[in-house]
Amino acid sequence: MLSLTEFAPPASRPDRLVEPAATKTYDAFGRHIHYLRVSLTDRCNLRCVYCMPEQMVFRPSEELLTDHELFKVLEVMSALGFDKYRLTGGEPTVRPGLVEIVRHIASLPNTREVAMTTNGLKLARLAQPLKAAGLQRVNISIDSLNPDKFRRITRWGDVRDVLAGIEAAERAGLTPIKLNAVVIRGFNEEDVVPLARLTLDHEWQFRFIEVMPFADVAEFQQASIVTTREMMTRIEAELGELQEENGGQLDGEAKVYRLPGARGTIGFISPVTAPFCASCNRVRLTADGTLRLCLLKDGELDLKTPLRRGASQDDLLDLIRAAIWRKPWGHDLAHGVIPMNRIMSEIGG
Ligand code: SAM
Ligand code: SF4
Repeated sequence: MLSLTEFAPPASRPDRLVEPAATKTYDAFGRHIHYLRVSLTDRCNLRCVYCMPEQMVFRPSEELLTDHELFKVLEVMSALGFDKYRLTGGEPTVRPGLVEIVRHIASLPNTREVAMTTNGLKLARLAQPLKAAGLQRVNISIDSLNPDKFRRITRWGDVRDVLAGIEAAERAGLTPIKLNAVVIRGFNEEDVVPLARLTLDHEWQFRFIEVMPFADVAEFQQASIVTTREMMTRIEAELGELQEENGGQLDGEAKVYRLPGARGTIGFISPVTAPFCASCNRVRLTADGTLRLCLLKDGELDLKTPLRRGASQDDLLDLIRAAIWRKPWGHDLAHGVIPMNRIMSEIGG
C-alpha cells in the first residue's frame, strides 16, 4: 500500500489540480477522472467460482468504513467534481443502510448518475425503495439461465431469484437494464448463445466479460479465460452477424453490437485481450477505506487511517487529488503482472 508521505506533490504537478471554474480533476496523463466505484462491503450472499474461494474469510466489520466515514469521503469526491457513482461490493445489497447511502449520494452536489452492480438476489424487495432514493440504473450479474449451471458457478445461487430481481428492477424503472456474465471455460462458455438471445426480445444490454486474474484465484482464472473473440464466434455461428453500434466507440468499458433485428444490444468487456486504459475515467473506493487507482494494479491510498486520526475535508481533498494525479496509465497483465493484494470481491469490479 502507498503510504501517505508518498503523496508529496511531484515536481511536475501543476499548482492547481482542481479547476475552480469547471471543478474537474485530471491525472498526469490528462484523463478527466470523475467516476467513483464504491464498494460498500466485501461480503456476499454467493461465492462465484471466478470471484472468491468457497471458504472466503471476510473482514471484521470494524475494518470497514462507517456510513459517517463513507459520507465524508464522498463529499470530498463531490468537491473534486466527481459526478458518476456505481455501488458495488462484494454484494452491495447486503450492506445495512443501503437505501440511505443511495439517498446521500444522489443529493451530493454534482451527482449526475448513481448506478449499482448487483447479483440481483435481493432486488425483488429493494428495487422500489432504491429507485425512490435516487438510484437510476442497475447492472445485474447472471452467468447462466440454466439452474444447475448457475448453481455450480455461484456455488448455491438460485437463478429464479435473479430473474425475479431483473423483473423487479424493470418494474421499478431502474432502466436501461444491463446484465453481466463472466464467461468461464468448463462452466458457461456455451451459455453465451442463450444469454445473447435474450437481447432479441428485451431492450437490455447483455455484457460478456473476460475473466481477470487476482491473487489466490489467479491460477484458476487464467486457466479458464474465454476470449471475447471466441464468445463472438460462438454467438455469430448461432444467431447471425453482430453489427457494431456507436460507430465502434466504447460504451464505458464495453464495445457494443446488435444482433439482426434485436431490441437490445450486446457488449463485450475485454480487459485482458483489448485493454481500455486510455479512456479510463474512474477510481475505486474499497469498503475498508482505500482509494484504488487502477482495478488491476495494487497501488492504493489509505484513507481510513487519516479519517480515524481526524483529518479535515481539506486534508482529504489534498491527499485524494494528489493520488489521482498519480493514477497509473494502465495495467500490466500482458507482461504477467497480476494484482496480488486483493481479490475481485474486495475491490468491486
Ligand atoms: N456482487 C455483485 C455482482 O456480482 O454483480 C457486485 C460485485 S462483483 C465483484 C462485480 C462484477 O465483477 C460482476 O459482474 C462479476 O461478475 C464481476 N467479476 C467478479 N470476479 C471477476 C473476475 N475475476 N474477472 C472479471 N469479472 C469479475
Ligand atoms: Fe458475490 Fe458478485 Fe463475487 Fe459473485 S461476483 S461472489 S455475487 S461479489
